[in-house]
Amino acid sequence: MTGSAAGPGAGRFAPSPSGDLHIGNIRSGLLTYARARQTGRRFLWRIEDLDRVRPGSAESQLAVFAELGVRPDEEPLVQSERLEVYARAVEVLDEAGLVYECYCSRKDIAQAPSAPHAPPGAYPGTCRNLGAGERDEQRRRLAANGRQPALRLRTDNREHHVDDVILGRVGAVVDDFVLRRGDGVFAYNLTVVVDDGASGVDEVVRGDDLASSAPRQAYLARLLGIREPEWVHVPLVLNSERKRLAKRDGAVTYQQLCAQGWTRADIFAWMQRSLGLAEAGTEWTDIDAMVAGADFDRLDRAPAIFVPPEPA
Ligand code: GLU
Repeated sequence: MTGSAAGPGAGRFAPSPSGDLHIGNIRSGLLTYARARQTGRRFLWRIEDLDRVRPGSAESQLAVFAELGVRPDEEPLVQSERLEVYARAVEVLDEAGLVYECYCSRKDIAQAPSAPHAPPGAYPGTCRNLGAGERDEQRRRLAANGRQPALRLRTDNREHHVDDVILGRVGAVVDDFVLRRGDGVFAYNLTVVVDDGASGVDEVVRGDDLASSAPRQAYLARLLGIREPEWVHVPLVLNSERKRLAKRDGAVTYQQLCAQGWTRADIFAWMQRSLGLAEAGTEWTDIDAMVAGADFDRLDRAPAIFVPPEPA
């Protein structure tokens, strides 16, 4: 599989269309756009709709960005239209002897003794070396319950690392992670790598909650002959208890903030303050100011705290 499309490189924003984006998701997306414009890359958008889809939410996410002055440079890539491409990638790995069926349930994995030095949650390797007879038996057992096996990547179970522009070296043990789930859905780590490769994405800017997935994705990219992108994991926005921002925290989405009287300029001014860049010149009032002012060498590396405005 070849990795890159013609033309300059690209960055991308790939939100799951599972609801309205909160201010933290929006901040990551705007930073992705700013970085693409600053570095002469195309800005792409991917609709990751293989799981947890709320109808209308992809369109509404795009509309919010359009209101903020951001439009993707190409038609968004829609994952549910690309199942054959993911299937082909799994086939390529399978032909190289790197795929095996896994019959474990979540509970089986939780209860299995873990391999020495394996981090918590790593796949213990239960189905890695089963014989043909055992596989037939397990397949029949699942089929009787209306289930099918998951597919896992046969890795070397070693620690790998990536170099991140903000975080520096990020290491993680790459275990035999899932490529296709037991319910037939292609796994996040597979689809991200295949799509970034096919779209010519050579720099991934996203929230740092996904940094720990980067070593796996880099490992898989290498196996598929896709060039590893640059990594830029940006700090998250948290609530006042320093937990992940959520709907229950109050007015956190663009729509809710507008209903509280926030203007577009307020959104950009908040972006500037939350990134610790407020002292660095004029106040941001629009996306052009953010593109000009979002200095990745100077942005605050600590998570930002968002306190929603009181109801009007
Ligand atoms: N769809 C993922 C999310 O919304 C992001 C995937 C990525 O940027 O790699 O969390």
